[in-house]
Amino acid sequence: MKTIYLASGNAHKLDELQTALEEAGLPIRVEGPGRIGGMPEVEETESTFEGNSLLKAEGLRSCGPSDGWFLADDSGIEIDSLDGRPGVISARYAGLDCDDEANNDKVLEEMKGVEVDGRSCRFRCVLALVGEGVKKTFSGACEGTLLFERRGNGGFGYDPLFLPDESESTFAEISLEEKAKISHRARALAKLVDWLEKGPTN
Ligand code: IMP
Repeated sequence: MKTIYLASGNAHKLDELQTALEEAGLPIRVEGPGRIGGMPEVEETESTFEGNSLLKAEGLRSCGPSDGWFLADDSGIEIDSLDGRPGVISARYAGLDCDDEANNDKVLEEMKGVEVDGRSCRFRCVLALVGEGVKKTFSGACEGTLLFERRGNGGFGYDPLFLPDESESTFAEISLEEKAKISHRARALAKLVDWLEKGPTN
């Protein structure tokens, strides 16, 4: 059986990938980095989600078996009026040790005075798969609007400020199940599964 090593120790992400593969009937086992000695330190120095996800996938590959596949993700929010920022620095937009609150405060401050028609944005997620002659990225996006103030108590990151086009509720107001139907992550994952179903040589 083929193994995909995921560059994340997050149990939810491991489960999510394993479930998606099982639902597609793909005989692929998912393992975390712990199985191969842990995730090496990788500096995210690229300016694109593609570049950074590939860095992480290649970083894990350097620790793993030669017949494995290695998967990593990178994600964030792109705000059109801010020329795509925070983008790849979404997690640390307000500074290296900042939290979600500080990041949300910073984008709200930068977006002060921008009317609703200038508040288009999207969450983007890129998954990178490398190993055994494979080097592919899969991108998923969820389009929406950046609100003027936070709404909802669920989720994480920029969720309270993000109103997806497909819903009346922010990502912090909808259930995990609802989010999983429209999220950038789910869409990138669906593209990966679709590609695996067709066979890696296609
Ligand atoms: P990553 O760990 O490099 O992928 O950075 C992800 C960062 O982007 C997170 O720390 C959040 O700030 C933001 N982000 C990505 N996906 C989401 C989401 O679904 N909801 C809210 N924030 C997100």
